[in-house]
Parts: sequence; structure tokens; C-alpha cells
Amino acid sequence: MNSKAAILTVDQLSKSFGGVKAVNNLSFSVTQNNIHAIIGPNGAGKSTLFNLITGVISPDQGKIRLLNNDITSLRPDKIAQHGVSRTFQNIRLFPDMTVFETAFIGTYLFTGGKLLPAILRTKEFRKKERQAKERIEEILQFVGLWEMRNEYAAKLSYGNQRRVEIARALATNPSLLLLDEPTAGMNQKETKELMQLFTQVNKQGITILIIAHDMHLVNTLSDQITVINFGEKLVEGPPEVIHNHPAVMEAYMGR
Ligand code: ADP
Ligand code: MG
Repeated sequence: MNSKAAILTVDQLSKSFGGVKAVNNLSFSVTQNNIHAIIGPNGAGKSTLFNLITGVISPDQGKIRLLNNDITSLRPDKIAQHGVSRTFQNIRLFPDMTVFETAFIGTYLFTGGKLLPAILRTKEFRKKERQAKERIEEILQFVGLWEMRNEYAAKLSYGNQRRVEIARALATNPSLLLLDEPTAGMNQKETKELMQLFTQVNKQGITILIIAHDMHLVNTLSDQITVINFGEKLVEGPPEVIHNHPAVMEAYMGR
């Protein structure tokens, strides 16, 4: 496979809420195996873009393709089956679930979530369940949470809560991982450690699309940056092109 192929293509995408054009005729593509950053001021439409890609909301116009599949307006679970997973801007964890249980949710996509085999505990079901548990152990080791697997996820430090979300997302075996401001509110140490984790995730062949504000993080981490403002694409390019770009400076200073 051509490693320069696009994994995600967004084509003339638009979405309005009332009179607000949250995403406005936006086109861009994400190259396979890249870390691709989306930056832009508050209200620029970044989270809306993620909601459109993951099928939480449907666009008014435009197309979204994953490799050669049109995933526009598919149900979120179908899009997840195509290999798209995400974390949310505001961490979403269930208060009564342990780290292990939370990460395990991500595997339901593959254990099928079918009721009858689960009740009967068929041999096939038990095999899949065992494999899923092994996979979760691997993932929790990878994100550095294995020792905390039996603790309540929502009781952990903010940085570790984010790791739980990332573990849950990885458990769906994504080829494309969307991270919505994953380091917002983190201290410097947590930010640095999460950046290292993202690099490791990316090395496993997972393409990352990340929304971030921290320019140091964006410049260090990403191969490609798309700047959006008022739902439209402003500039695009590698960090050296985006850095100190006049239009970018203006977008950030002007609002
Ligand atoms: P960003 O993530 O870049 O800060 P958002 O995508 O959250 O921006 O929001 C873009 C614009 O769309 C904002 O003006 C916001 O108020 C509006 N918006 C987002 N989601 C909704 C919604 N569900 N209903 C109404 N307006 C929304
Ligand atoms: Mg947002």
C-alpha cells in the first residue's frame, strides 16, 4: 500500500446550527500514518468536525471518506467498525467502573455485543472474551495503567483519566484515532508524557488526528497542520509553514 495515501478525506463539508456555520465548505485530507493537527480559535468548528467524522451529527453538505469507503452520515458504531475511534474534549468516564472495565467497553465492538451467546456463555463467546481480556491487558500495559486496573477510573489523576479514555479508544483497534484537546488542563509533565504516548501510538501504525491549542505540542508532534477559523480552512502545511504564518497569528490574536 502507498504510505502516502489518504486515510481520511473530508470534501466540502458544511454544518450549521441555526444561523451559525460551524463547519463551512471544509476540505482536507489526512495522510496515512501521519500525526495531523487541527488548530483554530475557540468556536472555530473543531469539535463539530470530529462529531461529523464520527457520525454523532450529520453534515448539511459534503462527504467524508475513510480509505475508499463513504462514511458520511453512517451511525457512530458503523464508523467505529470502519476503524475510527476518539476521545472527547471533556473526559467522559462512568463513575462506577474500574480502569479495566472502562477499557473493556471498547472491545464490545468485536465481541459482538450479542445477547444470547453472552447469556449461554458459548465456547466461542468465552474464547472471544478471553482474547479481549488479553488485549486489554496489553493496552493497559502500553498506556501505563496496568497497575491501576482495579481502581475507579474517575478517581484517577486527570492525566491518568485521559489515559483510560485512550485505552478505551485503542481497544476498538482503530486505524484512525481522533483526539479532541487531549492535553487541555494537563500540567507540563502530564502533557509531555501524553505526547510521548501519542508518538508511541502512532508508531504502531495508527494515524492520529489531534485538536490542540498548545503550539509547542503541535509543532513538535505533527507532520501536518490544518488551521481552521469560522469553520473554514485558513492555511495548511507542515509545522515550519504554519509557524508564524500571518493569517494564523491574526486568527488567534483577532478574536
Ligand atoms: P471548537 O471545538 O473549535 O471550539 P465547536 O465545534 O465546539 O468549536 O463549535 C463551533 C460553533 O458551533 C460554535 O459557535 C458553537 O457554539 C456551535 N455549536 C457547536 N455544537 C453545537 C450544537 N450542538 N448546537 C448549537 N451550536 C453548536
Ligand atoms: Mg472544541
